[in-house]
Amino acid sequence: MCEICQHYICPSACPNAEERTIGVCAYCEDIIYETQPRVRETDGRLFHTECLEELSLPELLAQFNIEVSEEE
Ligand SMILES: [Zn+2]
Ligand SMILES: [Zn+2]
Repeated sequence: MCEICQHYICPSACPNAEERTIGVCAYCEDIIYETQPRVRETDGRLFHTECLEELSLPELLAQFNIEVSEEE
């Protein structure tokens, strides 16, 4: 039993509650928790918003299968 809330399964208000997971990030392959900002693609793939923000534009487009190359 949880010592804080006295429940066997902690309600979300309890600090010991396990964070609910939404899925796995298609970019970094880490778990996405309910509390994290995330982006869902139309076909169902999920990404951390943070992961997509770190990508350069060509990398970002490649994640969505749009191939671009820089021309001189
Ligand atoms: Zn608890
Ligand atoms: Zn990620």
